[in-house]
Amino acid sequence: MKTVTLLSGERVPAFGMGTWNIGDDPATRAEEIATLRLGLDMGATLIDTAEMYGGGRSEELIAEAIAGRRDEVFLVSKVYPHNASAQGAPAACERSLRRLQTDRIDLYLLHWRGSVPLAETLQAFMRLKEAGKIRHYGVSNLDLADMQELWRAPGGEAVQTNQLLYNLTRRGIEWDLLPWLRERCLPVMAYSPIEQGRLIGNRKLAGYAARHGVTPAQAALAWLLAKDDVIAIPKTGRRERLKENLAALEHRLAPEQLAELDQLFAPPKSASSLQML
Ligand code: NAP
Repeated sequence: MKTVTLLSGERVPAFGMGTWNIGDDPATRAEEIATLRLGLDMGATLIDTAEMYGGGRSEELIAEAIAGRRDEVFLVSKVYPHNASAQGAPAACERSLRRLQTDRIDLYLLHWRGSVPLAETLQAFMRLKEAGKIRHYGVSNLDLADMQELWRAPGGEAVQTNQLLYNLTRRGIEWDLLPWLRERCLPVMAYSPIEQGRLIGNRKLAGYAARHGVTPAQAALAWLLAKDDVIAIPKTGRRERLKENLAALEHRLAPEQLAELDQLFAPPKSASSLQML
């Protein structure tokens, strides 16, 4: 499995498994659990979740999927902004730990910025880390000005990642946020890497995929996986699709293919505010 190095020096899989909407439907539960287990077997040992997903059902399903295999997994979860306070974060973290049936979260993220000051959230994260409840912390959906503020606050420079909306049709972060993160060796976790499935039906991407003998999902993921500091976390609840998606790791993009994708999905030409889903 290709890996990406966190600021701490720890290496994590470049391909992780997203879990938004997983655990919501009893009819698909068994296949979703089988998919997560297959992912672990195939080396996709990073699992991304959040207290928000299904009101905790995603975390509960993950607990079932990783039972007996906790040590293989790099577990990422997220705290709601309204819970990210001095008192709220430890309580939310305990609830997540209980649902996940584990004693620690490997990477705990602020889901997006709310009204709690970033410095207060950082203090709470530092205390959780000292207590061994979380191993690392980070953020999600923070734009450049937020990152700069965070970086100046105590504990800000220990943030391990910014999880962001990033795919071929959402390249805005390449203008200033991504270069800023790169200068500080902070990897990005690219969420909605296939635009919640919408990229599958994209005519330009379908044309590219047909020309290069891959599927549209593989093309979209291979473009992200070509970068050394990007972790892609596609979600699927189906084993066949997981295998298809993981095969993107074998589709190494040549410079001409990257140029072709730049022609089809242009990089940004000016600054824009951060997009999120
Ligand atoms: P995504 O991974 O871009 O797309 C998921 C959708 O695509 C699902 O409907 C899935 O359906 C379908 N799909 C997956 N592989 C496919 C394939 N090979 N062919 C056709 N369809 C395919 O979108 P996402 O779930 O929004 O993002 C991924 C993860 O990022 C989330 O699950 C979550 O963990 C995280 N996330 C974080 C934030 C944040 O604010 N931090 C926001 C959004 C997402 P099936 O399951 O039926 O295959």
